[in-house]
Amino acid sequence: MARLVLKFGGTSVADLERIHRVARHVKREADAGHEVAVVVSAMAGKTNELVNWVNRMPQVAGANASFYDAREYDAIVASGEQVTAGLLAIALQSMGVDARSWLGWQIPLRTDNAHGAARIDAVDGADIVERMGRGQVAVVAGFQGVAPDNRIATLGRGGSDTSAVALAAGIEADRCDIYTDVDGVYTTDPRMVPNARRLDRVSFEEMLELASLGAKVLQVRSVELAMAHGVRLFVRSSFDEPDQIDSSDGATPPGTLICSEDEIMEQQNVTGIAYARDEAQISLRRVADKPGVAAAVFGPLADARVNVDMIVQNISEDGTVTDMTFTVPDADLEKARSVLESSRDEIGYEVAQSDPGMVKVSVVGVGMRSHAGVAATAFKALADKGVNIRAITTSEIKISILIDSDYAELAVRALHSVYGLDKEQAA
Ligand code: ASP
Ligand code: MG
Repeated sequence: MARLVLKFGGTSVADLERIHRVARHVKREADAGHEVAVVVSAMAGKTNELVNWVNRMPQVAGANASFYDAREYDAIVASGEQVTAGLLAIALQSMGVDARSWLGWQIPLRTDNAHGAARIDAVDGADIVERMGRGQVAVVAGFQGVAPDNRIATLGRGGSDTSAVALAAGIEADRCDIYTDVDGVYTTDPRMVPNARRLDRVSFEEMLELASLGAKVLQVRSVELAMAHGVRLFVRSSFDEPDQIDSSDGATPPGTLICSEDEIMEQQNVTGIAYARDEAQISLRRVADKPGVAAAVFGPLADARVNVDMIVQNISEDGTVTDMTFTVPDADLEKARSVLESSRDEIGYEVAQSDPGMVKVSVVGVGMRSHAGVAATAFKALADKGVNIRAITTSEIKISILIDSDYAELAVRALHSVYGLDKEQAA
């Protein structure tokens, strides 16, 4: 018997039939003897609708369109999850499963005061644990908690993954199952590479790289939290037939386990290839090579909340000037350009060049820590396909390469096969 948190996202609870399907998944786990808590999102599209209402109300009431009250935003926008939690509890009860809904404040899941983008401070799981011990299923509204001002706080869009992980940590669950519209984490995007394989296990660190690099299965923050608290995450499909899955201990249903490295026996050099589109490259030419220059470039960008990603600086030839290249999201390019323009004198560069529409392709794997030649393999694979590399950055477990977007597919496919990630073809 295990203690489980099951999380279902918006598409999995999009209508009453799907909520019934979710209830069948939950019932199966409860019937197998597990202690179960469920975290739900709002029905697909609901949160957007609520946000839209929040935005329109001031205008309708004759106020300035920019009027905004973060506490009321939270009161309104959190309501989507309240509805699904209640509906799922009813569905479960209708099927003979003892179940009760819980809102963030009832647990309580305590947050800071940053309404609209609150961070979780603590989860007191005592009541839920006590009821789970009596066989009751707890159905928890995701995305919300209670702030020190005693008001509802939401965790930022996509926050119900984070709710689920925080709850799993708070009740010391053995596993947190993320039911979603895909059946796991793949070696790369299967829509781009039909040969992509589902991974059985991925380490937290790798998942962080894969999630933030564009494998949009999990909110990055939830993976960080899972890693910090050692919460094992299992990504699986909510569209699988609920009754055809074996939930007994030791059975392994289809999905991907995200866990600590020591739970992964055989580590491949490379686990996956991620890519992120819509990157813009900015190059400052002939920047003075002296202390304080990088701070002069990136300080004002940070103040303007421009998200800088790759940063490459060359060593200057004669110690006077150098080149500096970095990337920002396409959407931030104009802002970045004007920030740089206004701090031009302070920085002292000669030309600023920028190119939107770049793609960052990343090779990820904890195995590369202990293997030489992983980067060289990538460069050779891209060279063989005639793909030009604009910038390279590396960390212990990843190599990121900036290329023109026209080559994205070619590059991802080439890298995927050169590291042996392609699915084995039937002979
Ligand atoms: N319903 C919220 C949103 O759409 C939270 C979530 O789905 O994770 O952002
Ligand atoms: Mg979501």
